[in-house]
Amino acid sequence: MHAFAFETRIPRVVFGAGSLQHLAREIDLLGAKRALILSTPEQADSARRVAEMLGTRAAGVFPKAVMHVPIESAREARNEARRLGADCAVAIGGGSTTGLGKAIALESSADSPLPILAIPTTYAGSEMTPIYGLTEGGVKKTGRDSRVLPRTVIYDPELTLTLPLGMTITSGLNAIAHAAEGLYAHDGNPIVGLMAEEGIRASAAAMPGLKANPSDVDARGDALYGAWLCGTVLGAVSMGLHHKLCHTLGGSFNLPHADVHTVILPHALAYNAAQAPDAMRSIVRAIHSSQAGRSEGSAAALVFDLAKRHGAPTALKDIGMPADGLDQAAELAVQNQYPNPRPLERSAIRELLQKAFDGAAPD
Ligand code: NAD
Repeated sequence: MHAFAFETRIPRVVFGAGSLQHLAREIDLLGAKRALILSTPEQADSARRVAEMLGTRAAGVFPKAVMHVPIESAREARNEARRLGADCAVAIGGGSTTGLGKAIALESSADSPLPILAIPTTYAGSEMTPIYGLTEGGVKKTGRDSRVLPRTVIYDPELTLTLPLGMTITSGLNAIAHAAEGLYAHDGNPIVGLMAEEGIRASAAAMPGLKANPSDVDARGDALYGAWLCGTVLGAVSMGLHHKLCHTLGGSFNLPHADVHTVILPHALAYNAAQAPDAMRSIVRAIHSSQAGRSEGSAAALVFDLAKRHGAPTALKDIGMPADGLDQAAELAVQNQYPNPRPLERSAIRELLQKAFDGAAPD
């Protein structure tokens, strides 16, 4: 085993069907008194229900979270929190809503921090990471800052019952992508490897049950458990080519986040396979033991099959990518070097993107 130093912080987790009912207790445990409830406009009703449930512990609802977290919305929310006398934020929703909570935490001053309590309703995993993304003047910047890590996370599978099946599967593959890249991270270690393999297994294992019945609370619980593990991996180690490509494609061409992850992952794994054989073996083991996919094939082929058999998109051309953007995407992908099992080669990445665009099977 190679030598390593490792430190990670994870939030307090309350897990289980019906665990939303413990929200008031969790706010008390934070030492807070009044929460500003954050959501997207689409999930405003859920946010209002949470506010009703909290009664006097709710300072108000801010249902304006959007993708890519414009700094203006973070500032508006921060001012609203101040105006309403809120001393914590409850983010109920997917990565965009958690992202707004994180941006508010960054905007807060040291003498009046606004701790975040996250209630994830997708499998994106942001609630487990100190990673934030913000868009200022049209430019998206990301970074790591321990101030943005939520203090408490409530994982309640019942809140994911409304997630449409399509997004259920792509969001599950988004989770798997975090774990897959965590397995070959340059700063990885055996503990992260255990979480990653189990995260992939649990996320994949949930898929057949969810496809058959999206209201299966047990399968929803398995998927959320997988998301917890995979999100923990994302927060603990560095990501490689796959995440950088998805960031470039999502940011430059405004493609849906979970869909891009779903389409790119098999191709990114094929790109890195020869230089990361242990990680590939781990992914194969995880998918085999999930019993959700094919029994034969490479890690890349198994992930491709997993997406396909559960009805997820497999081609960039089907999710809004313009054909004439592929050259630019390849160019952007190699602009900054970063650790990745296989060095970044422009022509090979251009080929990878073409295959992903066409929906061809990975090598
Ligand atoms: P999202 O938060 O953008 O949600 C997509 C849509 O689904 C929204 O309209 C939302 O309201 C709706 N939705 C969410 N849960 C629902 C539910 N249970 N029922 C019905 N509708 C529901 O999507 P996402 O994929 O969760 O998050 C993507 C964003 O999160 C991206 O901007 C990405 O960069 C960011 N992200 C950040 C991190 C991090 O560590 N910082 C990690 C993962 C993702």
